[in-house]
Amino acid sequence: MRTISQQELYSAVADLVIKANFNLPDHVYQALCTMHATEQKPLAKETIHILIQNTRIAAQKHIPLCQDCGAVIVFLQIGTGVIIDGNPIDVIHNAVADTYKKYYLRPSIVQDPLFERKNTGTNTPAFVHTDIVPGNSVTITVYLKGGGSENMTSLKMFTPTAKIEEIIDYIVTAVQQAGPNPCPPLFLGIGIGGTADVAMLNAKKAVLQKEPHPQKEYRALEEEILQRCNQTGIGPLGFGGTHTVGIVRIKEAPTHIATLPVALNLNCHSLRYRSIVI
Ligand code: SF4
Repeated sequence: MRTISQQELYSAVADLVIKANFNLPDHVYQALCTMHATEQKPLAKETIHILIQNTRIAAQKHIPLCQDCGAVIVFLQIGTGVIIDGNPIDVIHNAVADTYKKYYLRPSIVQDPLFERKNTGTNTPAFVHTDIVPGNSVTITVYLKGGGSENMTSLKMFTPTAKIEEIIDYIVTAVQQAGPNPCPPLFLGIGIGGTADVAMLNAKKAVLQKEPHPQKEYRALEEEILQRCNQTGIGPLGFGGTHTVGIVRIKEAPTHIATLPVALNLNCHSLRYRSIVI
């Protein structure tokens, strides 16, 4: 058994929070550049140019990519051969709280969701999801999700007789109805299968996948959804244009014989996340 110290976990999470807030992942930056190069409408092209400039300024001046520094979602893949010293959830919350305070990142979490809605002031709790995997390491992913795009999240419980075309229509309609609210161009994560809760979680995980789906049928579906969403003409920040969605990723899961959940995670152009293996 390998032991990971509280300090090692704390430092890793703090570092990921900083990087996720200030630096877009390379493949997200590249996707914006590709959209800029291929955008047909002048206003849309200029808009993407400004978004790219924003990412450069954030990285150079060490300021947040967006004023909404997000809810902190943490995915932990814990190897069966690892012991984490102490309570890892407490360590993660301390690392998030200290880093948000130190770098003047906006705290955006309220303790009670319905009545008092008082800001915790620390951007905690983080929302931590844990998977147990083989091995003697821990993979940590910090994903920041802004409220504007999170509000556009959608779930539909299809029956197994649903046609692929109905699923595509549902997704394109959701993107259309969201319009400029989630700050397009979007990165779409789609969870298909599982139970309702698993589909929602997989929609979050899907959007963080760099590569298209390895199975050709799902890969073709990702491409079809991308094309159809871009035919809506919503465009960058809703100003009209060729690029409403930059990337579509699907993560599927086994499901009940009577169900076919489809969950949609719309992420804004500022897809902020970082991962490390410790
Ligand atoms: S949706 Fe994204 S870019 Fe828009 S305000 Fe929220 S975090 Fe910022």
